[in-house]
Amino acid sequence: MRRPLDLRHVISPGLRDLVELANTDDFDRVTEQVRDLRGCTSPVNLHGWTITTDQTTKQVVRSYRSEDEPSGRLLTTCGNRRASRCPACSRLYAADTYHLIKAGLSGGKNVAETVHDHPRAFVTLTAPSFGPVHNRPTTDTGKPRPCSCGESHAQDAPELGTPLRPASYDYSGAVLWNAHAGALWARFTTYLRRALAEHLGMTQKALNAALRISFAKVAEYQQRGLVHFHAVVRFDGPDGHTTAPPVWATFDALHVAVGLAVERARLIVESDAVGERVIRWGDRFKVDQISALGDGELTDAKVAGYVAKYATKNAEGAGTVDRTLVCRPCAGRGYVRGPDGFHDRCEDCDGTGQAEPLTNLAIQQHARQMIRTAWALGHLPEFAHLKLWKWAHMLGFRGHFSSKSRAYSTTLGALRDVRRAWRTAQAEAARVRAGLPVDDENTTLVTASSWTYLSSGYRPGEELLAAQVRHDRAYSEHLKSEGAPWL
Ligand SMILES: [Zn+2]
Ligand SMILES: [Zn+2]
Ligand SMILES: [Zn+2]
Repeated sequence: MRRPLDLRHVISPGLRDLVELANTDDFDRVTEQVRDLRGCTSPVNLHGWTITTDQTTKQVVRSYRSEDEPSGRLLTTCGNRRASRCPACSRLYAADTYHLIKAGLSGGKNVAETVHDHPRAFVTLTAPSFGPVHNRPTTDTGKPRPCSCGESHAQDAPELGTPLRPASYDYSGAVLWNAHAGALWARFTTYLRRALAEHLGMTQKALNAALRISFAKVAEYQQRGLVHFHAVVRFDGPDGHTTAPPVWATFDALHVAVGLAVERARLIVESDAVGERVIRWGDRFKVDQISALGDGELTDAKVAGYVAKYATKNAEGAGTVDRTLVCRPCAGRGYVRGPDGFHDRCEDCDGTGQAEPLTNLAIQQHARQMIRTAWALGHLPEFAHLKLWKWAHMLGFRGHFSSKSRAYSTTLGALRDVRRAWRTAQAEAARVRAGLPVDDENTTLVTASSWTYLSSGYRPGEELLAAQVRHDRAYSEHLKSEGAPWL
């Protein structure tokens, strides 16, 4: 007897699931949902509904229920900034950051175009040394010379940035510096205003009345595992970007003031365990003028491109991991409170508080030692506020990868709103084409909704469709001959 062909054993689970999806009532909708995710690696699966009613007539104007989807759920993008997690969402984040920084330099997106003529600088601030590291030094004439260890390291040598003498390297100092880097930056901006007033021979009050300084900054990890900051600094008039700064507020004055503020900004950290530490900037800092003419070294687009690139990098540059190391059940404490009120050793982490043993992490010894140090310092009550366990995988640095002063330019949220509004407009256009009623401006619409999180990721069949989406997008990007490479 001949049996029907059974494909279950010869085709992959993905393909089998895809065949199943293709047999649902609305395969077009399945593909559309995946296409809307633009290749997101790990979409969020939601279950729920949204209903919009007309307040006066009590009529339902529109409703959406995830149950009506062919797969019974709504998929939304993960929105992760990090390229190591989701290349697709990270590209979108980079593009938004690019436009945000560019608007603050050239105008557009509600920023006056005259900002282009204001003094603007690209400033890089670095951490001090915590001990000699392997590097690629050059002579005064720019010729390469060997590292202090005697070797000439290749450009991608893994030992670059790692200590020459790990036993005497100041790991506590390095981790504490990372943990205070954000606070040191805040202090720097305060001191910059003071230094500028002093340099120009005027009072702080007079300076503040005539000049506004706005910033947009990103953090980047150096190979030695310390963050440094790149910042766009712009001078505006008293009413912000729409007004011209006073004539005495020059790039040269800014240059001098940055030098003074770098020297003076410092934080004192006191601890019985590690003694008194002065958190300050390293001697190496850079202040480059952003050319207004567009013919200089540093154009608006170039600066926006740098910042967008740094904003989507994480600590990978320092060779660490991109996930928290805190054991979830015990929140890093190593114990859980039992029903009798006594502390029980956490079984998930064997009492270490770590989600995975640090010795098992596939990373370099230097990054591991930074993590170990962060973990050890995290036990000290005087450093509790630094949440060093939570940020151990970031080598102590607490998050804020990019930040800006409100006056600098538009916000990422505003850019997302524009995108959402555009999508709504498209949906309305589709309703008109379908002959459905369109919202009247005079009606009061009320929206109610309820959503719950189900899971993350695709069904195996959807994963294949997403791979096709990624392929198509990569191909069209390849064809795009102009514009920034990550767009
Ligand atoms: Zn994503
Ligand atoms: Zn060396
Ligand atoms: Zn635990």
